[in-house]
Amino acid sequence: MSYMAQRVAGFGTTIFSEMTALANEHQAINLGQGFPDFAAPDFMKKAAVAAIQADINQYAPANGRPALRQAIAQKVANFYGLQVDPDAEITILHGATEAIFATVMGLVNPGDEVIVFEPFYDSYVPAIQMAGGIPRFYTLRPPDWHIDEMALAALFSDKTKLIIVNTPHNPTGKVFNEAELELIADLCQKHDVLALTDEVYEHIVFDGQQHLSLATFPGMAQRTVMVSSLGKTFSVTGWKVGWAVAPPELSRAIFRAHQFMTFCGAAPLQEAAVTAVSQPKDFYTKLTQFYTHKRDLLIDALKSAGLSPIVPSGTYFVMVDISRLGFANDVAFCRFLTTEIGVAAIPPSAFYHTPADGAGLARFAFCKEEKTLAEAAKRLQRLRTG
Ligand code: PMP
Ligand code: GLN
Repeated sequence: MSYMAQRVAGFGTTIFSEMTALANEHQAINLGQGFPDFAAPDFMKKAAVAAIQADINQYAPANGRPALRQAIAQKVANFYGLQVDPDAEITILHGATEAIFATVMGLVNPGDEVIVFEPFYDSYVPAIQMAGGIPRFYTLRPPDWHIDEMALAALFSDKTKLIIVNTPHNPTGKVFNEAELELIADLCQKHDVLALTDEVYEHIVFDGQQHLSLATFPGMAQRTVMVSSLGKTFSVTGWKVGWAVAPPELSRAIFRAHQFMTFCGAAPLQEAAVTAVSQPKDFYTKLTQFYTHKRDLLIDALKSAGLSPIVPSGTYFVMVDISRLGFANDVAFCRFLTTEIGVAAIPPSAFYHTPADGAGLARFAFCKEEKTLAEAAKRLQRLRTG
């Protein structure tokens, strides 16, 4: 008999851990798991060291350090024009991952349905399942990942409790446009459905496009949990400082789950996060330029290797159409690429409930040093010579 509980027995190991291990084993350039291979900003490191030296080393309040909640309220006002109460409407959590998990645990009852766009970020479905909820999938299809109004509307029913909207979207790089978010907002209100918006890539958007937050649409602030974190914007994926902004009743539900999951995140990193989220607009403008350049380097490298990238509008990922390369599926291609070519990518079938829907795609990350991208470009040329 297995000691493992049924609720986790079906989960396996995350594709990120699996591909990073394979990349390390074969000394492949890791364009799989999305983490920067360059130094975190100096001001972030100094702020963290200063917080530890100032002996901010004991538990933070369970809902997060007040200065950070205030700074997030200010940032949400600056970027989205929303006025939120830092005490009643903001919870600091252990990364966006805990924010998502605590939101689902706090709001979803057994038997409730939760609408998820696929390909999905890999923690959504396990969170829904652990809460006893039932995921219902809307499949985004390449190359434009567009949303069909009738098909989305058909997923809403009186059993639907929540919809999870990730924009900018990992792994497709799709940035949901105004009409799409308006549609989602209308459906949520018509069916009395709550929204969880995963906005961890809110500041990585290209080509003059704009990230729109669902909570800013009429009637949505009172039914939306807006989730973000430091990891992507400030190149510190290992810090795991995240937050959920939600009206008081929803924040109370999130808090109840959170207090018994972690109670609080790392206090000195929350203190250092105040410096991060208080950065002037200029910081974000530079971030866009920084990642636009890296995106273009990777797109060029992929094209010159004979691959077919789908240019992303946001995030630090590129999907590539591999359907005509003659591989059995995305897993076979990504394993070949990692072990034989020396470049690791993520097989996106892990992000679909029917893996075959991702079988013709591969995801590459470009949150890497230029020299890393250049070395990957060189190795990818081997695809040309076979
Ligand atoms: N959502 C998405 C779409 C992500 O890509 C990530 C990054 N891994 C997360 C959530 C988790 O963020 P965090 O590292 O802050 O937990
Ligand atoms: N968000 C990162 C990605 O999509 C990885 C997260 C993780 O390793 N759990 O690559």
